[in-house]
Amino acid sequence: MSTTGLHHITAVAKDPQTNIDFYQQVLGQRLVKTTINFDDPGTYHLYYGDNLGSPGTALTFFPWMHMQRGQRGAGETTSIEYAVLQGSLSYWAARLKQFGFAPGRVESNFGQEVLPFTDPDGMRIRLVAVSNPPQYPLWPGSPIPAEHQLDGFLGVTLELNEVEPTAVVLTEALGYRFVGQEGPRYRYVASEASAANGGSLGSHVDILNSPLASENRFGAGSIHHIAFRAADDAHQAELRRKVIEIGEHPTQVIDRQYFRSVYFRTPGGVLFEIATDDPGFTFDESVDQLGGSLRLPRWMETRRTEIEAALPSIRRTMPQVTEVSGDG
Ligand code: ZN
Repeated sequence: MSTTGLHHITAVAKDPQTNIDFYQQVLGQRLVKTTINFDDPGTYHLYYGDNLGSPGTALTFFPWMHMQRGQRGAGETTSIEYAVLQGSLSYWAARLKQFGFAPGRVESNFGQEVLPFTDPDGMRIRLVAVSNPPQYPLWPGSPIPAEHQLDGFLGVTLELNEVEPTAVVLTEALGYRFVGQEGPRYRYVASEASAANGGSLGSHVDILNSPLASENRFGAGSIHHIAFRAADDAHQAELRRKVIEIGEHPTQVIDRQYFRSVYFRTPGGVLFEIATDDPGFTFDESVDQLGGSLRLPRWMETRRTEIEAALPSIRRTMPQVTEVSGDG
């Protein structure tokens, strides 16, 4: 069985507070988990998503204060795409402007309208208007009216010097199928994507063919990796075996507390992960308390005092803002 699509996307930010304020206050995503980078405990790992951080909505960040801004280029994921309900793009363009951001012009890809903008660290986000967006549990605390809320990921765009070597990973190991090309953009869709949700549950991977683009420089605003869904350990083992069969070199299974992960570097340079849907973010917090306190994996609890002392302080609740009406 193939993957059903994206599980989560992990990116790099600079300042954790700027990151929290933007994703909660401007985009209306719930901070569902406040934890640390298990490989670098002096750094937060912040997770945003729908009310539960459901697979297909989870965007996560490592805020590294010392990090210089990255430079987009070949060999990385250069944008993430969220689904929104058709008719919502003008709402979003106005909202972004209201908060001082500069959305780009609405573009069209494969017949869908797309609103591009960048987050405070320069990471590219594209809102794609769809008629039948995926249904996720909405966050009751979101400042966004229900009809305009982000409906999880539609997909990602990878920018690569060569399409084929990475396309093979998508089609032969992960079960994606090629659905079309528009200019330099090649679209792949997870073949197991749920038809009930218009097939749009984090199911798209676009490869932007940029033969002459120079290699990216990793930094703040860069996307570190993208993770694909496995239903459980057996499904993950099966996908891992397929990855090995096509000649790639996945890691062993690593316990990430909220899911179990396998990583591998694709031929085009993008880091892929395969993550299990279980146990999810309610593993160590109840739904109403998600994200509200610093969670540590059990193997790091004994070092809590030392870890907390090393982390910058953050404010998780949204500041009261006076909404400016109109475009001013
Ligand atoms: Zn990950």
